[in-house]
Amino acid sequence: MAKRDYYELLGVKRDASEQELKKAYRQLALKYHPDRNPGSKPSEEKFKEINEAYEVLSDSQKRQRYDTFGHAGVGTEGAGGFDFNRSGFGDIFGDIFEDFFGGQTGRTARGRARPERGADLRYNLQIEFEEAVFGKEANLRIPKWEACAECHGTGSKSSGGIRTCPTCNGAGSVRFQQGFFTISRTCGHCNGEGRIISDPCSHCQGKKQIHRDKTLAIKIPAGVETGTRLRLNGEGEPGSNGGPPGDLYVVLTVKDHPVFTREGDDLLCDVPIGIGQAALGAKIEVSSLKTKTQLKIPAGTQSGRTFRLKGLGIANLKGHRIGDLLVKVHVVTPTKLTARQRELLEEFSKLNGDPAATEEGLFEKVKNIFE
Ligand SMILES: [Zn+2]
Ligand SMILES: [Zn+2]
Repeated sequence: MAKRDYYELLGVKRDASEQELKKAYRQLALKYHPDRNPGSKPSEEKFKEINEAYEVLSDSQKRQRYDTFGHAGVGTEGAGGFDFNRSGFGDIFGDIFEDFFGGQTGRTARGRARPERGADLRYNLQIEFEEAVFGKEANLRIPKWEACAECHGTGSKSSGGIRTCPTCNGAGSVRFQQGFFTISRTCGHCNGEGRIISDPCSHCQGKKQIHRDKTLAIKIPAGVETGTRLRLNGEGEPGSNGGPPGDLYVVLTVKDHPVFTREGDDLLCDVPIGIGQAALGAKIEVSSLKTKTQLKIPAGTQSGRTFRLKGLGIANLKGHRIGDLLVKVHVVTPTKLTARQRELLEEFSKLNGDPAATEEGLFEKVKNIFE
């Protein structure tokens, strides 16, 4: 189940002021308060919903997150998630544009002229690793259907140009007898609309909508990840019969980086070091995405050790925390030795001894287990 829109719940506009929100909340809270509706389950549910909506919208930070990400942004997304899995979220790459609810827009059920909200749309956007970390402003070119301005979305040139379909009498479907059965079928005359436009608008040819590309400037906040969904209010399909438009969801896919990977808010990278640096200790230069910094490798560092550099990771999308940079060092064994290097290493090896030979040895340990 999709959660209801908070603004809708409170019956206020999206740009409602704090005062307006408070007023709307008070009125509704009074109306649905459990004390006034003892034992009424629907009132109790409604009361809870109103409170939740007001709690989010009255907090300017939460409100901003809600405006950008919807319920997911304020952690109130229901267990079932958003209600638009109908298209399966199948295609991943490229700017594939789909209609969540498959096909035609804004068609009212069975020709009744009640206002209907337009369908939500999904736009898949691929961005670079750095863009996900630091945020980005992007222009999306999206193909859109918009209510025809000429006829105000009615499809008719004049107000008298719409009449009830004579074939189905406005029902949108016709019934007929076939053998023992009565079969109901969508009316072919009006295509299920229940109404006929006798004087079609010349601008949209009676289709009620006009197709045209629209450029939308969007702001991708820092810290987004693959799968992050940005909601653009009212940028979905137009509503019909005066209904509000749907929303547009921009679903992000983040490209891999050649050096860095990411784990939550932490940035991870691998850095090679020499055996001398590992054994004697060293200061090496490492870079995060933004800056270069010195990392002190203590003497006796083993291969695979990870160093944590505080605050050089990724800004958290929903909070103020900044992640860390995790540098994993790999000790590189030299492969081409000069005569001198070989001489020194042989001497070192003699003095140091070989861990496999001196410490009981792996073979011995394994043997002990099986005895
Ligand atoms: Zn009809
Ligand atoms: Zn028109």
